[in-house]
Amino acid sequence: MAAVTRVSVHLPFSNVNPTRRRSVAALPRRPPLAETANRYRGFSIFAMAAPTVLVTGAGGRTGQLVYKKLKERTDQFVARGLVRTEESKEKIGGADDVFVGDIRDSSSIMPAIEGIDALIILTSAVPKMKPGFDPTKGGRPEFYFEDGAYPEQVDWLGQKNQIDAAKSVGVKQIVLVGSMGGTNPNHPLNSLGNGNILVWKRKAEEYLANSGVPYTIIRAGGLLDKEGGHRELLVGKDDELLATETKTVPRSDVAEVCIQALQFAEAKNKAFDLASKPEEAGPATKDFKALFSQVTASF
Ligand code: NAP
Repeated sequence: MAAVTRVSVHLPFSNVNPTRRRSVAALPRRPPLAETANRYRGFSIFAMAAPTVLVTGAGGRTGQLVYKKLKERTDQFVARGLVRTEESKEKIGGADDVFVGDIRDSSSIMPAIEGIDALIILTSAVPKMKPGFDPTKGGRPEFYFEDGAYPEQVDWLGQKNQIDAAKSVGVKQIVLVGSMGGTNPNHPLNSLGNGNILVWKRKAEEYLANSGVPYTIIRAGGLLDKEGGHRELLVGKDDELLATETKTVPRSDVAEVCIQALQFAEAKNKAFDLASKPEEAGPATKDFKALFSQVTASF
């Protein structure tokens, strides 16, 4: 699986304003019931109205695709995003439905969480490349996590905070995007920056599965910045797909699966690995009910 090599500038934790709140009147209104009722047949929770869906990590590479897709489907969803900084908010359009908060600080995320029906978690610790790496000299770059932004703080405690907060407002479903590789404690991603990232991600998955909130856990393969909707998607379990040639998936397809998971009862209380065949190697997946029906595993 490709390691994350993005180098980004993060504001320190103390810059987050935990008291930021907005009035309910400023938020987008739900579409009328009649417009949406038929779309949620077979998924009773969302039969009454367009659910309000919050995606966290909405400034991230997959999170912003989810946010965009939700915003494009105004007849189906009321979209919200959570980002960590004002810069990220501006990057995704700066709308009133984008909240700024830090998942390590529960109080800072409550304004985004209040009133939601479903939560899609796309936050993740982001390893950074140590300066001084010269690709022309060969070798491998080294990575590190900033103090306070290790996977334990972000992928475990930060996800736990989100799950607890969402549960406290009675959400009907939480979709959590994790990563393949979690069955192998010696996976190379765990030694990246000494972060044990897959171990902490797995712990958050387990916490979600035991939370009592209906859930969908998507363990993605190596993420590709390719167009979505052109590939046959593959679901698996226990990292079996990692032993095959098909262990990558476009971020856009992951984003679509997150949203589709809200629409089919077949996706509820399930955990699965997600990859894709190369383009043209199989028919593009259109029937998500059938895809989710193939999954038999819970956490
Ligand atoms: P990404 O671009 O790295 O986005 C992660 C997001 O989390 C960023 O927007 C980041 O905000 C946000 N975040 C981090 N700490 C936060 C905090 N304390 N409070 C609020 N937000 C915080 O994500 P991605 O590459 O699209 O990956 C999506 C998911 O798939 C991740 O869980 C990743 O581990 C997993 N995955 C990745 C791969 C791969 O090949 N890269 C493979 C399998 C699975 P900032 O923008 O402010 O940093």
